[in-house]
Amino acid sequence: MSYRRYDAVVGGGSVGGLSFAMEAASRGLKVLVLEEDKQVGEPEKCDGLVSRRALSKYIAPSERCIQSTVKSGTVNSPSGRSVTLGASRLDVVVIDRSAYEEQLAESALSKGAELRTGARVNGVVPGPAGDLVVTASASASASTERYLCSYYVDATGPSSLVGRKRSGLIPAAKYEVEGDWFEDGGVQVFLDQEKYPGFFAWVIPRGNGLAKIGAAGLGVNSFKTLDSFLSTRKVNIRTRVAAPIYLGGPIDEFVLGRTVFVGESAGQVKPTTAGGILASVAGGLMAGRWMAESLAAGDPKLMANYQKEWEKVFGKEFRLMKRLRTLYQHLSNDDVEKMVAALSSPGVASKLSSTDFDFHASALLSTLGARTTLQLASVLISVEAKNALTSLVE
Ligand SMILES: Cc1cc2nc3c(=O)[nH]c(=O)nc-3n(C[C@H](O)[C@H](O)[C@H](O)COP(=O)(O)OP(=O)(O)OC[C@H]3O[C@@H](n4cnc5c(N)ncnc54)[C@H](O)[C@@H]3O)c2cc1C
Repeated sequence: MSYRRYDAVVGGGSVGGLSFAMEAASRGLKVLVLEEDKQVGEPEKCDGLVSRRALSKYIAPSERCIQSTVKSGTVNSPSGRSVTLGASRLDVVVIDRSAYEEQLAESALSKGAELRTGARVNGVVPGPAGDLVVTASASASASTERYLCSYYVDATGPSSLVGRKRSGLIPAAKYEVEGDWFEDGGVQVFLDQEKYPGFFAWVIPRGNGLAKIGAAGLGVNSFKTLDSFLSTRKVNIRTRVAAPIYLGGPIDEFVLGRTVFVGESAGQVKPTTAGGILASVAGGLMAGRWMAESLAAGDPKLMANYQKEWEKVFGKEFRLMKRLRTLYQHLSNDDVEKMVAALSSPGVASKLSSTDFDFHASALLSTLGARTTLQLASVLISVEAKNALTSLVE
């Protein structure tokens, strides 16, 4: 039996897989993307908060993707104390994730990549002459398709992490709601270690009286938690989505033989906020470029440069974010109150307003400086939290 052959078959047609496909196809590779959903970008599982400036270094979202511009971010403590940080200078926007994925799909197709929707990858096995055989089932016909390829690119996101039993995934619930108590441009996070242990609830207005609202926490029922958050706030719920967020940091090896992990399946997601659009798009482009180089040179070892390049840009920051995450998990609600109070102190909030959205862990520490960070550590209650914060400046 003869199968169609590709340089790369991609599992998952979302931000990571489509960025890869666009870059690899533009460099002459024969690429096929298999997406299990019937339509790229649907259902929308992400809230689309992203730094336009940073994303534009990779693939700028077109104007039709922009739903709103973020002017401020407010952090609310468990007791209701809040600190508002200006964000106008950061060029953070809320994008329509579905529209952005459509944009990426159009770009990938225009460069020559092929896309099959409604096709679920269910097996990757060694094939003849060092190739891989990728098996996919088409939901429309229930038939099985097989493809030969030099590389399989796993861009299947959280399902890949689940399949490999990676820890760090927590369930999140997100609703799109209509309401009149949030203001366009004003993103809010709500910290409470009892209600949202280790994470938070969030409100991301997206214009026209709509907002994307979500909640996640270690060991909590995210839907119940979000319903309880909304019980004192008047909203009309338009959509409800359950989707896991990943906080475990990058995986050890982005390339395993002829399988290349891209996007969330490679752990390219911020361990603090679970934002993964930027690092996944960057990962897709880098993997596409190095695969083209590697195949042109006939040297598989060149693929290692994909991880090296991604690490060079994001590695240090993601490690720091992971340490901040560990610190946050150790905080009690009293500690959280003290942190929010410290952030509200004169000078700190204004300095934080101009920090980097995507490299916020380094920016936060350099803004606070060693002295303020140690002062902060001294007011925390739990010994673990004190130690974790102190270790950041050592
Ligand atoms: C509730 C929530 C809110 C978020 N908000 C933000 C935010 O505001 N900003 C931000 O930067 N990040 C956010 N993220 C994170 C962001 O969505 C992810 O990091 C990003 O989508 C990862 O992209 P990806 O392409 O790697 O994977 P995904 O976007 O998860 O895409 C994986 C794709 O693979 C497909 N697939 C899965 N299995 C198969 C299979 N076997 N065969 C074929 N196809 C398959 C899926 O259908 C999907 O299309 C949020 C995540 C969640 C859950």
